[in-house]
Amino acid sequence: MPDTWNEPESQSDDCDQCGLCCRIFGNSITPTVMNLYCWIEQGRTDILRYFSAAKEDGVWVNCAVLLKEDLGDIILMEMRDPETGGYLSVCPFLRRVRREKYICSIHPVKPDMCRNYQPWVWGETYFGRCKSLKKRDNRYIWRHICE
Ligand code: SF4
Ligand code: SF4
Repeated sequence: MPDTWNEPESQSDDCDQCGLCCRIFGNSITPTVMNLYCWIEQGRTDILRYFSAAKEDGVWVNCAVLLKEDLGDIILMEMRDPETGGYLSVCPFLRRVRREKYICSIHPVKPDMCRNYQPWVWGETYFGRCKSLKKRDNRYIWRHICE
């Protein structure tokens, strides 16, 4: 999830790219309205089609058919299978590049939720199974975050 996913050959300071957080949580990510706006503007229906939105009138629509002027009416968004409308078991944008190494195929435009994810920060997003976290000394982590 962190920002280094488009560089599978590089070793990030923050993330080992093991893909575990994406494999566990990636099927329930939610974009912001601004994410939708950018994807609409860029014509990224390949991304938009994996999300559905509920409008104020209670009607659900696939985000690929939304116009920018519709965005003010959206009250809820969910990741959904574009073919069946059901829930997905894994994020459709996750790609395995080699054993225990994954990348995000939409890294440059991925949702804010993924971009801001920090499993090493104690609190809501803390993820104790993060491989990178396990290799770290806690004092280093806190110093790193506060710098
Ligand atoms: S969009 Fe990318 S970063 Fe977010 S869960 Fe999916 S693969 Fe991971
Ligand atoms: S669990 Fe940790 S090391 Fe693995 S991809 Fe997520 S942030 Fe990176």
